[in-house]
Amino acid sequence: MTQNHRCWVEIDRSAFHHNAKIVRDRIGKAEMLAVIKANAYGHGMLGVAEALAKEVQLFGVANLEEALALREKVNHPIITLSPTLPDERASVVASGIIPTISSFEEAEAFSRTGHHPHVNSLPEGGEGSAGGTGSKVSVNFKIDTGNGRMGVVESEAVDVFRRISALSNIDIHSVSTHMPVSNEDEKYTRDQLARFGEIVDRLRAEVPGKYKVHVLQSAGSLAFNERPYEIVRAGIVLYGISPLPEFQNLLKPAMTWKTRIGLIRDVPKGASISYGRTFITPKPMRVATLTAGYADGYPRHLSNAGAEMLVRGQRCPLLGRVTMDLMVIDVSHIGDAAIGDEVVLMGRQGDAEIPCVELSDKAGTITWDITTRIGQRVKRVFV
Ligand SMILES: *Cc1c(COP(=O)(O)O)cnc(C)c1O
Repeated sequence: MTQNHRCWVEIDRSAFHHNAKIVRDRIGKAEMLAVIKANAYGHGMLGVAEALAKEVQLFGVANLEEALALREKVNHPIITLSPTLPDERASVVASGIIPTISSFEEAEAFSRTGHHPHVNSLPEGGEGSAGGTGSKVSVNFKIDTGNGRMGVVESEAVDVFRRISALSNIDIHSVSTHMPVSNEDEKYTRDQLARFGEIVDRLRAEVPGKYKVHVLQSAGSLAFNERPYEIVRAGIVLYGISPLPEFQNLLKPAMTWKTRIGLIRDVPKGASISYGRTFITPKPMRVATLTAGYADGYPRHLSNAGAEMLVRGQRCPLLGRVTMDLMVIDVSHIGDAAIGDEVVLMGRQGDAEIPCVELSDKAGTITWDITTRIGQRVKRVFV
């Protein structure tokens, strides 16, 4: 079935069930929001949504385009986690997607967008009770407690929230914040969670309502789950990659990234390999040319950075530079290596494994960056 694929990822559906169970065990009765933005971190959005549909209660995506594609497939509530552009508002409202809002002005604009003529004609006070949430725009109210990209600043949060709740056409679905250093600075994170907790307590006391609260993402659900609130936003953990190394063995990576040997050649000592001639063979070598390169998302930064891949269950070093469509590895020690062989760029083969974090560390980046950049021509094969 994958016989003619030059570069592909195999996505193990059962891994999602396993990883969702790990999160479920740590968050009690809270709802789970699966973050499947950026093509489900490169895994294939619709396939992942399908695999997780029974285990999660909401989905989170980055933007309207992703939300509309997902809307065709699932009935779950969908939250867009990035800001909505003004021209996207009408479509967000029409499709019942929950936008994340960062100011009173944005809420007001949504309130106007959602003000359908039939709602307008209702007598004062009649719209909320009669129409339920059907005629209102549900929004996720975001508070900036340190991530500095979105949200109402902390000191104004209660006041802005009060004004937004009074808008006739807005229904506050949830109140949330996001953590900038949950896998880097525990002290800051604990202080941030305490500050957010105080704001939530004030909101609950001063502006009661049926809104839900969420803050924990993957690292939060693993290491800071004392107060999960009503929703937890699980991202990378569901794909089986831990943001905190001490939890990795609980998880099952969903993705195995594969390519093939396209050629095998015997080259003499002193031969140069790939652009830039950065690798010169120190002895006669048997080298394999693989049918994948940086256009498939394999980081070019892994050139001459100690990267390895698996052939017949054994590690083989990358030689010279990663190029657009090809790269070259040393197979001198794999006697039976053959043209057409599967090569694992990331994941398991036999007893050997190249974990995502090995690639990200060697490339000087983070695991999220490795999987989300896997290219468009790489087939997603669900198994
Ligand atoms: C992407 C994102 C997440 C998921 O983060 P992980 O670390 O992958 O769990 C959660 N919340 C928001 C707001 C996000 O943008």
